[in-house]
Amino acid sequence: MRSVAFFLALIVAAVPAAAQRLSDAVVPEHYTLWFAPDLAKETFRGRATIRAVVTQPGTSITLHAAELEFGEVRITSGGRTQTARVTTNDEAETATFTVPNRLAEGPVTIEVTYTGILNDKLRGFYISEANGRKYAVSQMEATDARRAFPSFDEPAFKATFDISMMVDRGDTAISNGRVVSDTPGPEPGKHTITYARTPKMSTYLVALLVGDFVCREGSSEGTAIRICSTPDKRQLTGFALEAAVHQLKFYNDYFGIKYPFGKLDIIAVPDFAAGAMENAGAIMFRERLLLVDPKQSSVAARKMVAIVLSHEIAHQWFGNLVTMKWWDDLWLNEGFATWMESKAVAAWRPDWQVELDAVAATQGALAVDTLPSTRAVRTKVETPEQINEVFDPIAYEKTAAVLRMIEAFVGPDSFRKGVASYLTKFAYRNAAGEDFWTEIARVTGEPVDRMIKSLVDQVGVPLLTIRQSCVGNSSEITLAQSRLLIAADRSSEPRTWTLPACFKTGDGTTGSTTRSTARCEVIERPTQAVKTSGCGGVFANADARGYYISEYSPEAVRDLARRPSSLTRVERLNLLSDEWWMVRALRHPVSVFLDLAAGLASDDTPAVLDALQTRLAFIAGNIADGPQRAPFQQWIRDRFGPVLAKLGLPGTPRDPDDVQARRATMMLLVGVSGGDAEVQRRARELARQYLANPASLGASLAPTVLQVAAVSGDRALYDRYVAKLAASTAQPEEYYRYFTALSWFTDAALVQETLKFALSPTVRSQDTGTLLRGMLRQPWARQATWTFIKDQWPALTAKLGVFQGVPEIVIGIASLCGAQDAADVRAFFVRNPIESVERSVEQAIDDIESCARVDARQSEALAGWLPR
Ligand SMILES: [Zn+2]
Repeated sequence: MRSVAFFLALIVAAVPAAAQRLSDAVVPEHYTLWFAPDLAKETFRGRATIRAVVTQPGTSITLHAAELEFGEVRITSGGRTQTARVTTNDEAETATFTVPNRLAEGPVTIEVTYTGILNDKLRGFYISEANGRKYAVSQMEATDARRAFPSFDEPAFKATFDISMMVDRGDTAISNGRVVSDTPGPEPGKHTITYARTPKMSTYLVALLVGDFVCREGSSEGTAIRICSTPDKRQLTGFALEAAVHQLKFYNDYFGIKYPFGKLDIIAVPDFAAGAMENAGAIMFRERLLLVDPKQSSVAARKMVAIVLSHEIAHQWFGNLVTMKWWDDLWLNEGFATWMESKAVAAWRPDWQVELDAVAATQGALAVDTLPSTRAVRTKVETPEQINEVFDPIAYEKTAAVLRMIEAFVGPDSFRKGVASYLTKFAYRNAAGEDFWTEIARVTGEPVDRMIKSLVDQVGVPLLTIRQSCVGNSSEITLAQSRLLIAADRSSEPRTWTLPACFKTGDGTTGSTTRSTARCEVIERPTQAVKTSGCGGVFANADARGYYISEYSPEAVRDLARRPSSLTRVERLNLLSDEWWMVRALRHPVSVFLDLAAGLASDDTPAVLDALQTRLAFIAGNIADGPQRAPFQQWIRDRFGPVLAKLGLPGTPRDPDDVQARRATMMLLVGVSGGDAEVQRRARELARQYLANPASLGASLAPTVLQVAAVSGDRALYDRYVAKLAASTAQPEEYYRYFTALSWFTDAALVQETLKFALSPTVRSQDTGTLLRGMLRQPWARQATWTFIKDQWPALTAKLGVFQGVPEIVIGIASLCGAQDAADVRAFFVRNPIESVERSVEQAIDDIESCARVDARQSEALAGWLPR
């Protein structure tokens, strides 16, 4: 699954829900499932026949079921059929079938008729609406298959599935297997579609879709691929098909195992809680992450589609073919797919430089992992709430960063062989973390098991403090390990990991630092010394492959800032990011970071400028909020205004994408954080042109123009955005351009209007959290948004459900910045505890407190550094 939202906390210690693990007294082998959805009534009828094996004789069978009404339940074993009495446990989400006579050890068949509801909470089997009609679609991960059919709903209970659906005559239906028959009836006005039997798989991978979906067809190495959507969006499916065809071939080659699920359907659905979901052979997507206009789309939008697609297709092997035994090893699924996603895309489109995006994405993991309330990659989870909460940047981005580091250490080909061997060994079965790292260590002959274990079972991010001394023409580099924390008074604590770290130094004469001098060492002691040739400044994360933060001396950072060309693009991005953590952890004054930022102002890499812009926006919004405001804005205009002028505004839509991307970033920096009135005026002018003629601006510049224009925009402009948005529902990229821009209006009345809009029926529940999160990020809107959230909490949770939009809102709340805010957030969630966001609330509070401390402690450093 690709989450849109992430993360969670522990203040209130709500009473833990009852553990719901099933025993293995009965083990399922095969399900035969029949569904008859009634879209008008938002209900469905179901029949399930489950073939299982009784391992411990008894008179009852307990399995999962939630919000299901049971009809007759019959159990056959040893040639005798008995009618069962049904009792349900709503809290544990189970049903128990009890028969008068004992069930013998051996095969058993459970036949159930039941009814269920097509809910509006985007979980289980649910209702989605678009174009004036209803659709029925599913999202089973993590624990919601039990809302669609009675099941042994845990990943280790793998089984085969025969699925059929009876749907309205004019509709189609899609499931995991290819269609083997489609016959009229048996009920009037209906037809019944039967799908091929699936290979053995977990219940959370079952897919059900009903509606008037239309598909574009293709194939890759003999596997049929279809990209499907609602009929109005068929013309937007071409790019995804092209990407999927390439990726399937890439993965067939990479793993050396042919795609295991027969056909591959990829479907964009109008309402979807996650970003996308890897159901075996039937991947589902949010529309905006799959559908792009062949002519008008930006590179960023196409990249996003390719990346998410690559993630979900990688899961067909990693996750679907081999599945974690239990959810505490979710990282095996998600971290692997996240690491893999850029690999297939890099092979297809090297010009997109997705390796930079991967380094940038690691920052999402560090943002959590530098907090005292972070969690270990492998965390014990029992309840659905706890399971839902571990779909976070630790499972995804931290694990991906760890795998990237290990791959670089053992070499890509050796790592690939280890992965392929692991997949072959555990195909159609389940595995735990140990199974993975033992196999990689065995195949590569390297001690990666110790490395992975130290990073997976131990919380936090390693800080390597680097000191360099020169003897003759060689350097001695001393490395001290500790854990970096940005909150509370534990700025770092002693801790040791086993890590591969790679260094490069200049030769000491020209000041140049070259790749050839890079040297890798396994770091495993609290303090360790490494000798390298040359006395030039050391860079301690060559190729930015390591999951650790490097702490240089301020002089060393300033030295690197003076010769940025001695570092590669990913290394410059890494240096900038690491230095930012020194600011957040109060280990360096912000002035060191600003010197580095100035040194990188003319960088030609969009990802570097993007990293620069977000940090400077943080300083503008949180630190330079007093008397430093005007001089800081002036500094931004002086330093970056000429860079923007050189790039030109607006340029032409035919400019190379990286030029458009850099122009957009500089426009945001100078126009918003720099408060440049002329750039804002120009943005309003360009926005009006764009509203009249979308071809007037490059697709990569347009979103930023709309945002910067909104900063000084009035109600007339706001109304035009809202009108355009309403007219763009068939064009997701265009729709979300306007949707996102609404949170950039600074006018207080318009802020209130957007907040009301977020909760209105016009906004899909999947998007409400996203919009509020965007509002919480804006310094001008965050207090009003937080007040609105508190006031409207019952309405918000009713609209969003506690499993999807609420986690996203909590992430947004982390953007508040003040000791009083932290106390207020804590008090609010004590009054309104929600188990599915316990840890993320704690993380938000840590983050808010950290921000308040940074504001208090770095303001002076900023004032001292700014020109007077
Ligand atoms: Zn995933």
